[in-house]
Amino acid sequence: MEMFKMTADEICALDPEIAIIPIGSLEQHGSHLPIMTDWAIAAELGKRIAEKMGAFLLPALPISTCREHMGKKGSVWIESTTFYQMMYDIIMSLKIQGFKKVGILTSHGGNFIITPLVRDLNAKFQPDLMVAIVTPDTVKVNGVMETEGLHADESETSQMLYIAPDTVHMDRAEDFVPSAPRPYLNYGSIFRATPNGVWGCPTKASKEKGEKFLEEFSRLAVEEYKRAFDYMENKEKFGYSYF
Ligand SMILES: [Zn+2]
Repeated sequence: MEMFKMTADEICALDPEIAIIPIGSLEQHGSHLPIMTDWAIAAELGKRIAEKMGAFLLPALPISTCREHMGKKGSVWIESTTFYQMMYDIIMSLKIQGFKKVGILTSHGGNFIITPLVRDLNAKFQPDLMVAIVTPDTVKVNGVMETEGLHADESETSQMLYIAPDTVHMDRAEDFVPSAPRPYLNYGSIFRATPNGVWGCPTKASKEKGEKFLEEFSRLAVEEYKRAFDYMENKEKFGYSYF
């Protein structure tokens, strides 16, 4: 059971050392997927990962930084600096309660402000606090999807076909692979690069691929958290610094 469904006394009895924070987003996902897609996937992966690690799971955050999806109603974002501060505050509240390890999970692209946050927290608070991050860039699932994509693609569509099939409209799915490179999302909304808001090949999606991907991503994520926490834990003091 997800620990956020337990009572405080039950959580005290288990006394978990690790907390997992899944980060979702509310953003357009083409004509075939709901705006909750990233949140639904983050919640599902967070549940699987925290269970395998015996970790305290926070509910997936529904809103983060998706300004690059401007253009259609339904995408909601906050300032990157606000998000940095909000995550900082959340992690400090975990630290005060005795959590020594925090795993941030961002299962979709974007949220680039998380990387400097992780570095800042580790540099300031190690060895009392260690923060590790898992993203689709640090954990690569091979051999499940036929195509590479970035957004509302084969992978996200497959995962949603498994998690919330009622919300997926495969009859409206259209492939689109932009010619613009990904960093050009810094120069203009995603709709400048892809008219339907899709970046990849959702028509290749299936529920079976989604289930396999979720299982494999969770397994690799647990390995990556362990590797990262071990790396941080086993460092000796260097000069004046534990970082
Ligand atoms: Zn997404």
